[in-house]
Amino acid sequence: MMDIHSPPIRCNICGYDGSFIHKENERESMICRNCSSSSRLRAVMYILGTCLGIARLPVVAWAKNKEIRILESSGRGPYPMMLKEKFDYYNTEYDPDSELMKRPFTAYADFQSLAYDEGVFDYVIASDVFEHVREDAKGFSEIYRVLKKGGAFILTVPYNHEWAQTLTRVKVEGDRDIELLPPEYHGGGGQTLAYRTYGRDLPDRLRAFGFSVALLNFDASQHAITRQIVFVAIKEGYLDVTKYHFLETDARMEPLQASPLFLFRLFAFLKYNFFSAPYFISEVRRRLRDRFPKS
Ligand SMILES: [Zn+2]
Repeated sequence: MMDIHSPPIRCNICGYDGSFIHKENERESMICRNCSSSSRLRAVMYILGTCLGIARLPVVAWAKNKEIRILESSGRGPYPMMLKEKFDYYNTEYDPDSELMKRPFTAYADFQSLAYDEGVFDYVIASDVFEHVREDAKGFSEIYRVLKKGGAFILTVPYNHEWAQTLTRVKVEGDRDIELLPPEYHGGGGQTLAYRTYGRDLPDRLRAFGFSVALLNFDASQHAITRQIVFVAIKEGYLDVTKYHFLETDARMEPLQASPLFLFRLFAFLKYNFFSAPYFISEVRRRLRDRFPKS
């Protein structure tokens, strides 16, 4: 862990200006000291903001518009509570044991079989979820169905551009799961089985359902967003490439009050600073020993 100190970098979720905490895993790196968001979460919100035409503002400063309906599965970190306040936002969990998944409920959903009517969502967000969806083709088809015409599906997955084909880790045959590779668990506290790691066939697989698809491979240093790949898939529409030009002007930011997210700040402090306490104590001891050597 180290601090990166450089000219103004703003969290595009909470509006915090300052240094971010660097971690080894690039996609999950550059933790915001105020809201604990990772680079991946900020990338997803940056693309949602780009789709909405408001990416220059942090999520916390976005205008309220309850007409905009958004479906997400397993949204984590600080932004779900902000989206909930601003939009008609369904942050759903997948729970195969819950009867509620069979109803158009706002808190539970199964991407493979959504209980919502056709054409009701403006956006569907799935960030590092689809590698865990048992039958992903059903999920893509269902998302296409529930999106409005022109609606966008914003997707991140573990993805390897070197691979022409998606790597199947667990083969699905009827009700049976056949492990082709040693099982890989992550997400949801490291409990969720990964069925696959996606390769370059993903955009074409999405196109087969009728989506127009863009693979956005970008970074945005003004928001401490490290290199990320985000897919945007539009239903019965087109991708306006001019929207996805990541303009330098985005970096021109007005002073702004960071969102006072006390609980997230406490969480970030405990998670990232508390564990450095032993190093701090040993440093103090060393200095004291140097200053007052035992005779
Ligand atoms: Zn933040």
